[in-house]
Amino acid sequence: MITTILIDIDDTLLDFNLCAKWAMEESAKKMELILPKDTYEYFKKINASLWKQMEKKEITSDGIYCVRWDMVSQMIGVPFDGKAFEKYFLDNLSKSTIQVDGALELLKYLSGKYKIYAASNGPFEQQVQRMKLARMDKYLSGYFVSEKIGHSKPAREFFDVCYKEIRVADLSELMMIGDSLSADIKGVGDYGIKTCWFNKEYKSTENSADYMVNHLLEIKEFL
Ligand SMILES: [Mg+2]
Repeated sequence: MITTILIDIDDTLLDFNLCAKWAMEESAKKMELILPKDTYEYFKKINASLWKQMEKKEITSDGIYCVRWDMVSQMIGVPFDGKAFEKYFLDNLSKSTIQVDGALELLKYLSGKYKIYAASNGPFEQQVQRMKLARMDKYLSGYFVSEKIGHSKPAREFFDVCYKEIRVADLSELMMIGDSLSADIKGVGDYGIKTCWFNKEYKSTENSADYMVNHLLEIKEFL
């Protein structure tokens, strides 16, 4: 029987693309930069491939923050200091709380029946602050964030820490909900935790999760 939910933050509870685009535009204003229209699309591609590398332990999150805006600068042909940009960007990102449709209602609903913990790859303080600003923190019993744990989803070490700290009697009491097949579903299912894939963009028909939804509120049908 499920007693405890682990839920991803970016692109599950908060809309990462809308948050990051806003944070990028605010940072550009601060640095008095005029960025070409398609800059965010370049960032999105570069960032996604770096996070995939991190899931495979080929780069650390600090490594990502060091290089990603320099890579964007090169791609768009607009010279700027990527590390200075990153500082503004992370600061703005920690204030960004654009929600995924149904996220707050889902947390409210689940919190009446289960314990809920956030399980996220990202910077700890930033993720906690965003949950507070989004008024989602009151539904959470705690946070598992890769920066603090020292390992990223889907590494076993990440879930070892969750399992140990939550103190459920058995792994079968846990369910992980998230949008990323690689970080939230595949390795997690192998670890022995039930999984629910939030396939928001109908990205793929491949489904290795126990449950799949296209809208967050569909989760009410089985939890
Ligand atoms: Mg996510």
